[in-house]
Amino acid sequence: MSTESADPLYQTLADVFGYRSFRPHQESIIRAILEGRDVFAVMPTGGGKSLCYQLPALLMDGVCVVVSPLLSLMKDQVDAAQKNGISAATLNSTTTADEWRAVMEELDRGRLKLLYVSPERFGAERFRETLQRTKLSFFAIDEAHCVSQWGHNFRADYLQLGEIVDLFPHCPVAAFTATATDLVAKDVKGSLKLRDPFCLVASFDRPNLFYQISYREDFPRQLVSFLKEVEGESGIVYRATRKKVEETTEFLKRAGYKAAAYHAGLSDEERARVQDSFSKDETPIIVATIAFGMGIDKSNVRFVVHGDLPKDIESYYQETGRAGRDGASARCALFFGYQDAAIYRSFLDQYEDEEARRAAETRLNEMVRFAEADGCRRVNLLKYFGETYRPIDVTSEESEREARPATRCGACDFCVGTTPRVDATIDAQKALSAMQRTGNRFGAGYIADVLTGTRTDRIVSLGHDHLPTFGVGADRTKQYWRYLIQALLVQGLATLDADPRFPVPQVSELGWEVLRGKRSVTIVKRPEGKEKSKTRFIRASSDPYSKENLSPRDRALFEALRLKRMEIARAENVPPYIVFSDKSLVDMACLKPRTDEDFLLVSGVGRTKLRSYGSEFMEAIEEFLESRQ
Ligand code: ADP
Ligand code: ZN
Repeated sequence: MSTESADPLYQTLADVFGYRSFRPHQESIIRAILEGRDVFAVMPTGGGKSLCYQLPALLMDGVCVVVSPLLSLMKDQVDAAQKNGISAATLNSTTTADEWRAVMEELDRGRLKLLYVSPERFGAERFRETLQRTKLSFFAIDEAHCVSQWGHNFRADYLQLGEIVDLFPHCPVAAFTATATDLVAKDVKGSLKLRDPFCLVASFDRPNLFYQISYREDFPRQLVSFLKEVEGESGIVYRATRKKVEETTEFLKRAGYKAAAYHAGLSDEERARVQDSFSKDETPIIVATIAFGMGIDKSNVRFVVHGDLPKDIESYYQETGRAGRDGASARCALFFGYQDAAIYRSFLDQYEDEEARRAAETRLNEMVRFAEADGCRRVNLLKYFGETYRPIDVTSEESEREARPATRCGACDFCVGTTPRVDATIDAQKALSAMQRTGNRFGAGYIADVLTGTRTDRIVSLGHDHLPTFGVGADRTKQYWRYLIQALLVQGLATLDADPRFPVPQVSELGWEVLRGKRSVTIVKRPEGKEKSKTRFIRASSDPYSKENLSPRDRALFEALRLKRMEIARAENVPPYIVFSDKSLVDMACLKPRTDEDFLLVSGVGRTKLRSYGSEFMEAIEEFLESRQ
């Protein structure tokens, strides 16, 4: 073992959590808390936020109070912590009087390490008094963006958390969130009154997610072909409306898949039932409107499909972000149609506030641009969040700063070359020439009209119907030309005028090279009319934890272990991922541990899990190996 094992931080990481290294930033956050500093950390979903407060809680005297907004998350967190042998409890609106008394007793005896509470608890006088006479280590605020009015999930009862620093001036406060713009970040730090906090904004990159985007042509066919690629896995299919959710669910059931619908039209009980059965891997596929997702802590969601264009990139990021929280590879597929944006646009008129309407429209346009864009999906996605993509070695904290920017990620449809491309040099010349000849003063729609030879009043009055380029693109649709102009913009062959309200594409320096015949252009093929493009799907296979990298025999062992996990989860009435993550099972299938020492080498196995499950899983492995001899 390395010298690090003498460090109590690494010792606890291995003994309790079963991990040998920290994810990026975890260590610096933990050290800041141990030094008694306030912390403000923005980390993506699956970045490992819980460990950032659970681990220091174990090394400090007293109990760590964790404020969390969602009951289901709290329950999951407490279950997971207990499975690792950490003494944890929760107090919320569902706590009975008996449970309350039991928790109080644990608190009084100083036995508890983690106490999860809902924000409204803080309003209760009795609770504050209890905390006053309890030895506290620090406060952890989960989903801290809820305190900001600018955030997307503002919760009024989060505001009172600002009183923590007054009531408990000696306790550090560590705030965590997965989504915070600069504005929200500033607001959160101010509202919680953090004192010279250690601030950290981690990369938004989710290296284990594979992104793919294609046009929706025959969705049922495309969906089935995608599901074949992720056979037997659990995931979410998002659809824009209740009706589409029901249609897709029906279709999947008829095609023999175990799927259930989830939308706002179902009763609370029905929704809870569907969610529970998804968590427990009993119903592997959920077809849902965006009502589904909040409060889903299931770490082994292996795919997220969007059957319609999301309304903005934030939503796309958040919804795809529900895949692969355990760090094992997962797939995100978006299928969108030309009409999708038009439908959202018709909703925009419902905004009463003009500023809000315009903001929503801009976000929608960004989404369309992202979906149609040329180039690496990951690079484009991160660029939207103001980040330059730098591939990092996730196991090393050092490399993040040293990593160099890259233009390709190697784990999206674009990078692996499944996006069909065509030569469009001639068309690009036509479009650029139309821009040039009309004086670089008109929007894409106007240029498309000139190219298709459409005699609008404006074109006629400006005499543009006499231009040599008028009608040279009549063999293509107006939509095609708009799309091509978009591609030219993305590739830097045209640039936009500064005024975002009237986007006017203009020929750029690079564009001139195309006009002079010195540069060729390829674009992502776009289906037109009846023309169908067949998209092939490829798996992300660079991930060593992906079970696709297992040999057929190990893969069979993995399936056997998965059954074992299900059996145990059923008996204990917890979701399977609380027992072990998919990643732990992949590790077991590779390592085939026979001794306690070997078993401890499995990622996610600490002392407590070894004691609870070691022999059962090792027996299952032995049985499997014997039966296969
Ligand atoms: P977040 O709350 O940031 O979305 P979680 O705290 O739920 O993320 O962690 C996501 C997953 O990563 C969990 O399964 C967790 O056990 C795992 N994890 C956390 N830290 C590490 C680590 N250092 N090494 C390996 N896995 C980790
Ligand atoms: Zn890529």
